Amino acid sequence: MATSSEPSHPIIDGIAGRVAAVTGAARGIGREVADLLTKHGALTAYLDLSEPPALTAPTERFVQCDVTDPQSVDNAFSIVERHLGPTEILVNNAGIFEILPFAETSPEAWDRMLRVNLTGAFLCAQRVLPGMQEAEYGRIVSIGSSAGKTGGSKNTAAYGVSKAGIHALAKAIATEYAPYGITSNALAPALINTDMVTGIADLVNRIPVGRLGEPTDVARAVLFLSAESASFITGEVMDVNGGFLID
Ligand code: NDP
Repeated sequence: MATSSEPSHPIIDGIAGRVAAVTGAARGIGREVADLLTKHGALTAYLDLSEPPALTAPTERFVQCDVTDPQSVDNAFSIVERHLGPTEILVNNAGIFEILPFAETSPEAWDRMLRVNLTGAFLCAQRVLPGMQEAEYGRIVSIGSSAGKTGGSKNTAAYGVSKAGIHALAKAIATEYAPYGITSNALAPALINTDMVTGIADLVNRIPVGRLGEPTDVARAVLFLSAESASFITGEVMDVNGGFLID
């Protein structure tokens, strides 16, 4: 029996009224995450290169942001602060994926992968952490990948390395900011049904659950880790993969 001091829905408490920012929120997983946070009452900013179609939230919640560009990141979070307030929930989701044999990976392709997938998360986290520290509250969820654990399927070295970096970044922030009421976790999804997996969906027969993941599978995990009552979970890398990689 819950006492009066316990939230009635502990899994999703502390979302309503919080300012959330989701990068790469125009489509795919990011869009689903942003919509789910919005549905649970968060004041969600949808950050992306271009505007998402038919926003669930008010249209001014879209904020143009290229996560690879420090100036663009700073501007975007300043806009979020002006319109909604300091970011309390950050979801580092923006990412790119490319299948490229190791020998054919140019320094430029390598840099671009790391800039979008890893440096982008670093820049966004560094931009919001002082505000979270001041508020003594924050939730950061960064989207890694099973490829960050395994190195990825064949011909995805740069992607796998970028996602391994996300897992380490989430842990490093967790350790440094735990005293300030800030948690930092990563998710390690695999084979989620978005534009990104077009062409590799035939891997479905290697998923024990017997289906591709859906963006909502990832969004629910983000929601769980963003809850106020998830305060004792930090530095975790949580699989969302239907048993594709059990480690
Ligand atoms: P999508 O390609 O469907 O969506 C990625 C989003 O990120 C797009 O809206 C894209 O914008 C945006 N984006 C790309 N570059 C930037 C940038 N520089 N600044 C801001 N936004 C940017 O991918 P998913 O939804 O599938 O993936 C989301 C995250 O989940 C990624 O980090 C991915 O690596 C990770 N992931 C996905 C898996 C999957 O199976 N789908 C598995 C494991 C991890 P635009 O449309 O303009 O390019």
